[in-house]
Amino acid sequence: MSKAYRLGLVGLGKIARDQHLPAIMGNDRHDLVAVASRNAQLEGVAGFATIGELIAADRGLDAVTLCTPPEGRYQQARAALEAGLHVMLEKPPAATLSEIAELARLAAEKRLTLFATWHSREAASVADAKAWLRERTVHAVRIIWKEDIRRWHPGQEWILAAGGFGVFDPGINALSIATQILPQPLLLEAATMGVPEGRMSPLTASLAMRTGDAPVNAEFDFLQTGPQSWDIEIDTDAGQLKLGMGGSELTLPGEPMQKAPDREYPGLYARFAELIDRGESDVDVRPLQLVADAFLVAERQTLAPFEF
Ligand code: NAP
Repeated sequence: MSKAYRLGLVGLGKIARDQHLPAIMGNDRHDLVAVASRNAQLEGVAGFATIGELIAADRGLDAVTLCTPPEGRYQQARAALEAGLHVMLEKPPAATLSEIAELARLAAEKRLTLFATWHSREAASVADAKAWLRERTVHAVRIIWKEDIRRWHPGQEWILAAGGFGVFDPGINALSIATQILPQPLLLEAATMGVPEGRMSPLTASLAMRTGDAPVNAEFDFLQTGPQSWDIEIDTDAGQLKLGMGGSELTLPGEPMQKAPDREYPGLYARFAELIDRGESDVDVRPLQLVADAFLVAERQTLAPFEF
């Protein structure tokens, strides 16, 4: 019987409750022994206000998962690594590229596992899409990622603050899939973004990218009411591949659509245990690089003020 890792969870908010807690409870390789959150508690589990207090309590932890917003996560991850704990990061892995590079260096120095997760890569059809594209020539890619901020991020003021990523918070999920499945690297060429008056992060963005000779266009919109879109269409020499619903549905030329139940977070926790077992890290910064590039080159437009 393999060892169960004693786990602490930091930031008991929406994604922690919706996905992390059920995934941890359903995985016998992880044992949730403590939670750190300033304003929330979990019945039956030791609670602390901050990760500093959690570490100081010396509960024999092996690892922590950080489910806090990206701004400030570097300090939390650094404290955990300094304390000898393996670390799993929600996406985006940090607020900046220099922060995640330093965390990867520190984890390697301390021989600890750092897992920068991209949950959308665990979506049911992503691996099949990658395998199908391996033998194909890509002619064009269209990414349409449009969701309602009020529905999926109710009241999350941090998401429109500096370092909150705005519409790139969901958009980076599309980029995590695209960088995973496309056979050639993605380069960013131009971008526009719309930032509401008085806010720091965008509600809309358009990216013009390239993979090999093929154009890759992405449309991100955080104001989409009605039907939501998390789609990637890829034209190839063998016809069109369509990944729908965030990577869970796959349609290949001449075949019926395939879909499977959501196993994203169970997949992440299984992989975290494997990485710790093997003494490895997994830190792929390509999706974050593309977002950082967009912020470097984007033409900005000011949108009407936004309130949740
Ligand atoms: P959230 O509901 O706002 O929860 C984040 C939690 O972190 C808060 O409840 C808060 O708990 C804690 N926190 C610590 N420092 C904070 C700060 N400076 N500002 C705000 N909260 C702070 O956010 P979330 O939706 O769970 O997102 C957290 C991370 O998960 C983000 O990186 C996001 O991209 C990722 N994610 C979210 C979703 C989704 O659908 N919402 C899906 C996948 C991934 P205390 O106040 O109790 O400390």
